[in-house]
Amino acid sequence: MESIRGVVLQYFEANDTSRINNNRYLLQFSTMVTDWDDDYYAYNCYAFALDMFSGNGFLRPGYTTNNDNYSNLNMPSLSTLVLYTANDIRNRGNACLVYGTSCYSLSNLLSSQTLICLRRGYKFEDFSKADFHFMRYHPASASWLHKPAHSIPLRLNSSPWSYTYWINEGVGPYGAFEGNTYYDSTIYYFLYSPTHLSVVKTPFNSSLHQVTCQICGNIYYENHQFIYNGEGIGYCTECGYMIEVD
Ligand SMILES: [Zn+2]
Ligand SMILES: [Zn+2]
Repeated sequence: MESIRGVVLQYFEANDTSRINNNRYLLQFSTMVTDWDDDYYAYNCYAFALDMFSGNGFLRPGYTTNNDNYSNLNMPSLSTLVLYTANDIRNRGNACLVYGTSCYSLSNLLSSQTLICLRRGYKFEDFSKADFHFMRYHPASASWLHKPAHSIPLRLNSSPWSYTYWINEGVGPYGAFEGNTYYDSTIYYFLYSPTHLSVVKTPFNSSLHQVTCQICGNIYYENHQFIYNGEGIGYCTECGYMIEVD
């Protein structure tokens, strides 16, 4: 019996490469945002989403906690990938993180915030092989960018949630190629920033005020910053707490 692979090889041998390379496949879900560069061989969707470009390799969720020793054949569950991703984001120095299955408000995104999303799926022809894919919101173009493995970065034509599945189609050195994997899981969104933003400060005791992050709910404490009015009253410029001074 002649294998599919054999048929494909015969096809390639019968055609010269310039014809094969002639962008036969048209991207279905995304649009090119740049031309090919050999650097794009060097990193994958997760490195791209985390803003770790050339030379950072093929990162998998869990890489900061040594939990990334897996392959397509023993891919962690979606919920485990989500936890690994959250840990990586925190370990990369992001104090503020929220994640969940609903996308966050794109119009309220602050300039120091990053928004990425994750989906899990399978190879079309071998369901024993699972995979993950990430996308990253790009505020300047109000669109989502992503980089399937060896592809150039692409711009998703619509919103991540508007597709019942994503595929890993891409563009390599010889033009566009059809994907071999689809991602149809629930989408998880991760919103993060190096510091807590949009904080509210309220008096806690005579020396501290409580700081609550309005984005992630994290609570921490800071010393009051008193100034004095010269009439025996001091007040904190941050939270308004007042003290009497003898
Ligand atoms: Zn926060
Ligand atoms: Zn205070």
